[in-house]
Amino acid sequence: MKVPKLIRTYCPFCRKHTEHTLEKVKKGRPSSLNRIVRQKHRQEGIGNAGKFSKVPGGDKPTKRPHIRLKCSECNKSHQKKGVRVKRFEIAG
Ligand SMILES: [Zn+2]
Repeated sequence: MKVPKLIRTYCPFCRKHTEHTLEKVKKGRPSSLNRIVRQKHRQEGIGNAGKFSKVPGGDKPTKRPHIRLKCSECNKSHQKKGVRVKRFEIAG
């Protein structure tokens, strides 16, 4: 999915619709899923793996990108969760 770099949307600080520039929020710490995967590896070997016999784990095929919207009038920015898409690009 491609989105334009400049969109007109609501600014909670100005309390009205203004032009916003889009920026993708960078990824922070990895999710706790990594810890679960590590736990699973520890279990590997002989015997029943308990709850890990069932849980496949892994990432979801789609992500919900967080978008930082910067207001062009007050220069403040707020974040927004996007829609679930495989690929997310900001055109421009
Ligand atoms: Zn604003």
